[in-house]
Amino acid sequence: MFCPRCGKADQLPETYCRQCGVFLPDLSKPIKREIPPEEHLKANTVLNSLTIIVSFTLSFLLFAVIPDKHPLIYVTAGLLLGIGAWHIQTLIRTLKLKKQWKRRAPLTEIQAAMQETQPAFESASSAKSLDQADFADTLPASVTENTTRHLAERPERKMS
Ligand SMILES: [Zn+2]
Repeated sequence: MFCPRCGKADQLPETYCRQCGVFLPDLSKPIKREIPPEEHLKANTVLNSLTIIVSFTLSFLLFAVIPDKHPLIYVTAGLLLGIGAWHIQTLIRTLKLKKQWKRRAPLTEIQAAMQETQPAFESASSAKSLDQADFADTLPASVTENTTRHLAERPERKMS
């Protein structure tokens, strides 16, 4: 591929340009969108609730349905109860986290729009770099040095 900035040919995507050093994203790949944290929390809540229901129901059924109680039944039922209890605990934490998340200031419209329009690689690769330094108006070092020395050597100005 060609470098979009300097045009150097014959380069591999997902590497840095050999001439100008800009990152060359593989544009043929679909851009991965980050899943927002709310989605993770929602998925967690659903999965936790399901696991709690299933594990408690199964452990109950193990006791209720199977007449002859092999020790393995107790072990399995105990394990299922343990899993259920663990997931209740996780569910509580997830719900707390959800509440905290909601309390955070919502994104402003501009921020939201920026997140929508900016592909993931934008931020890493073509984030706006600083403009070229403009040396047209700079004074040569000797001039500034002279001025500094001159000012330093000047006798103290009388306060008026
Ligand atoms: Zn380049």
